[in-house]
Amino acid sequence: MTAPVTARSSADLIRAEEPVLAHNYHPLPVVVARAEGAWVEDVEGRRYLDMLAGYSALNFGHRHPALIEAAHRQLDRLTLTSRAFHNDKLAEFAERLAALTGLDMVLPMNTGAEAVESGIKVARKWAYEVKGVPADRATIVVAADNFHGRTTTIVSFSTDETARAGFGPFTPGFRIVPYNDLAALEAAVDETTAAVLIEPIQGEAGVVIPDDGYLTGVREVTRRKGCLFIADEIQSGLGRTGRTLAVEHEGVVPDMLLLGKALGGGIVPVSAVVAHRDVLGVLRPGEHGSTFGGNPLAAAVGTAVVELLETGEFQRRAAELGATLRDGLAALSGKGVTTFRARGLWAGVDIDPTIGTGREIGERLLHEGVLVKDTHGSTIRLAPPLTITAEELRSALEALGKVLGA
Ligand SMILES: *Cc1c(COP(=O)(O)O)cnc(C)c1O
Repeated sequence: MTAPVTARSSADLIRAEEPVLAHNYHPLPVVVARAEGAWVEDVEGRRYLDMLAGYSALNFGHRHPALIEAAHRQLDRLTLTSRAFHNDKLAEFAERLAALTGLDMVLPMNTGAEAVESGIKVARKWAYEVKGVPADRATIVVAADNFHGRTTTIVSFSTDETARAGFGPFTPGFRIVPYNDLAALEAAVDETTAAVLIEPIQGEAGVVIPDDGYLTGVREVTRRKGCLFIADEIQSGLGRTGRTLAVEHEGVVPDMLLLGKALGGGIVPVSAVVAHRDVLGVLRPGEHGSTFGGNPLAAAVGTAVVELLETGEFQRRAAELGATLRDGLAALSGKGVTTFRARGLWAGVDIDPTIGTGREIGERLLHEGVLVKDTHGSTIRLAPPLTITAEELRSALEALGKVLGA
C-alpha cells in the first residue's frame, strides 16, 4: 500500500456525503480507500485492522487472491445473462453449494433480505401445497430480537422499534416468541404453521448464543409438529463459528438454510436459499425470480467461495483462533468487559457502561487502528476475517484492553 489514492481528504469526503447521502447509517469517521486481507487503509494512508469484516461478508478477508482471480476471469468472459437463458456457471455453483451444506436444491438470489423473503414465500407455498394449510392462513414462528433484514415484510416481525417505527402497515402471518425458549416456541406452533425461522446465533442482537440443545429442540419440535425449520445462517454460516454452519455445532440439519454475506466473497452480493427438493420443488416457472440472481459473475465468485470452504481451512482457523479470542476477552473480564459471548471468530462484548458506550469504544479503537462496530448501546461485536493471524488478533485485543484502561 503506497500513496493516497484520492485528492480529497477524509474530512472533506465525510462533509461531502452529508447533503447528498441518505442518513440511514452513522458510520465511524474513517474513509476507506484500499484494503487487503485483514487490513484497510484510509484516504490519508493510515492502516486499520478490520475487526468487523463487513458483518461477515468478508470472512475470507479483503480481496482474497483466489476470489479476485475467479472474478477477474469471469469479468473477461460473461457477467450477466438473466435467467431467461442458462449460463455455464450456475450448475456448478448449485451442485457444490448443495454438497457443502448437505442439502440438495439451491435458489440463487442476491442480498440476504432477498434470501429471507424467498424463504418465507417458499415456506408459505409449501404449507398450502404440501401441508394443506387453508389459503392465506399460513403462519411463521420467529424469535424476539431477531435480525433478518430490512424489507417491509421482514421488519414486520422485528422487535426493534427503530427498525419498525414509521414503516407500517406490516405483513401479517408472523408469531414472535422469546429466543432460546423451546416451550414458548412449541406453544406457538399449530396446524397453520409453515415454518419456524430463527438465527442459530443472533448476530445483531449481540452474538446471542442459545443454550446447548435449543437447536436440537427446534429440530425435534418442527419435525414432530410437521413444519419447516428455516435457519438464517446469513451471518453465522460459512466458517464464522468454526464450522461451515452454526447448526453443525448441534449436528442439526434444517429443512431450509438461508445464506448470504460471505457467499459473495466480499466482491458481489450473492445469497441463496438451500433446501431439500421436496421443499424448494414447490416453485414453478414464473412464481419467483430475480434479474440478477444466479448471474455468472455471482456464480463464479460463489463457487470460488465454496471451494475455499471445501478445504476446511477457514473453519479450522475460526475454531483455533476462536480460543485466542475467548482467552483474550476472558482476561479483560472485570477490567472494562462485563460479559461476553463468543463462538469461533465471533464475539459480542458488553462494555462496562461507566467506561463508555459501544460507539465511544469504537471511536477510541479507531484511533488505535482497529475497526469494530457497536450494537445495542454498550455492546461491541468482533468478527475479524477468518484469515487474520494470531498475532494480529492479539494486537486487536491489546488495543481493546488499552481503550478500556485495563
Ligand atoms: C445481514 C443479515 C441479513 C440481511 O442481509 P442483507 O444482505 O443485508 O440484506 C439477514 N439475516 C441475517 C442473520 C443477517 O445477519
